[in-house]
Amino acid sequence: MNFVQRKITYRLYPSRTQAALLHDTLALHCRAYNALLEEHQRRYESKTPGFNFSAMCKELTGWRSYSDALKTLNAQSLQVTAKRVTLAFDAFFRRLAAGDEPGYPRFKSLKRFAGWGFKTYGDGWKLRPKLTGKHFIYDRLYLTGLGDIPLRGQGRFIGTPKTCEILHQKGTWSLSVTFTVPEHQVMRASGDQAVAFDWGVTTLLTLAKADGSLQEIENPRWLSNQLAALKALQRTVSVEEVKAKVRIGLAPDAVLVKGQRLPVNARLKRLYAQVRAIHSKVARQRKDFYHKLTAWLVATFAFIGTEELAATKMTKRPKAKEDPEKPGEFLPNGAQKKAGLNRGILDSAPSMLLGMLGYKAEEAGNALALANTRVIKPTQRCHVCGALVPKELGERVHRCACGCTCGRDENAARTLLRWLLEGSSWFASGTDARVGFRPPLETPSIAALAV
Ligand SMILES: [Zn+2]
Repeated sequence: MNFVQRKITYRLYPSRTQAALLHDTLALHCRAYNALLEEHQRRYESKTPGFNFSAMCKELTGWRSYSDALKTLNAQSLQVTAKRVTLAFDAFFRRLAAGDEPGYPRFKSLKRFAGWGFKTYGDGWKLRPKLTGKHFIYDRLYLTGLGDIPLRGQGRFIGTPKTCEILHQKGTWSLSVTFTVPEHQVMRASGDQAVAFDWGVTTLLTLAKADGSLQEIENPRWLSNQLAALKALQRTVSVEEVKAKVRIGLAPDAVLVKGQRLPVNARLKRLYAQVRAIHSKVARQRKDFYHKLTAWLVATFAFIGTEELAATKMTKRPKAKEDPEKPGEFLPNGAQKKAGLNRGILDSAPSMLLGMLGYKAEEAGNALALANTRVIKPTQRCHVCGALVPKELGERVHRCACGCTCGRDENAARTLLRWLLEGSSWFASGTDARVGFRPPLETPSIAALAV
């Protein structure tokens, strides 16, 4: 039997006393994290041999022997925290080697410290099952020293708990458990049609099906609906921030220097909380919508094609253009327009959608094929004749010399469908259009599907 790993996140409902104890544990892990970081920094700067993971664990054992507070923490948990410091430095050295902006690992304030983890099931933590009807669910988390904490949440499967993380975000506690699950338990029913979709900002998905029909899925635009509310709120925040600046003797338009903080009164605090609440509501709605959408896609279609999306590149800020005639002054670079588009792109979070689609397609045994955008150029390429028809960003219609006229998104979706069904044989570019093709779990004959 094959096994896969899956995560389930539960919401925790600690009592007042338990919440206080969770906070204490969080603070201790945060201190351990920062202490390890400091020690690493010290050794790195004095060029003494690397402070690797096992050296950190040894150091922690030493610290534990004379700190009663650290002794109260689970020893393996501390190792998980040490692992995070190691990972932060690994990433730093990797960026350094690659010549990217290195970004030295930062000390974390308690506010920014997400949580801590446990390595082995049964060591410091346990899940308590409860039978409801035919099924059993986990309804409490047992933590050494804290007792049983009620929890809520459910997965589609029953697995063996392996590791977990306790997370503190926006004032709530949650538990993320990694389970080992028999593969057959996560299997999904799969559809039998072929589809390719183009992803966009105005229309979220334009689906081109193998039977020639077209379907559009509108972008719910959670963020833009909330944008007006957010804007009004932001104005009130600005007014209050100006007042706060005046209170500490700054000019109303003064820019805060690094390390300088505004005094946050109760009103400002409440406003900040309101802004956070809108953002997190949007995030929850988006996640829920994407889960439903991707579940529907894999349940309806067996062969799904789309293009690779690099959201980080697409949402980059445009470079500043310096005026060659007046050094120090800048020409318009379209930053404002791009910012609006960026918001749209981030709003519909393509990478999240593709991530969900990826693992759900795997669970259904579906084939998900991702076209290399730079080779296939689905937006530019005519789906009828294969010729490249360059388009500006705002050009919504595809007009080809071959006589084909259709919507921009429709053309992209149909081009992707032809690529999915026929590969690159129908357009003679001489390049291998299957670059970036991700083979499905069990290779189905995609050519056999061509109609
Ligand atoms: Zn054409």
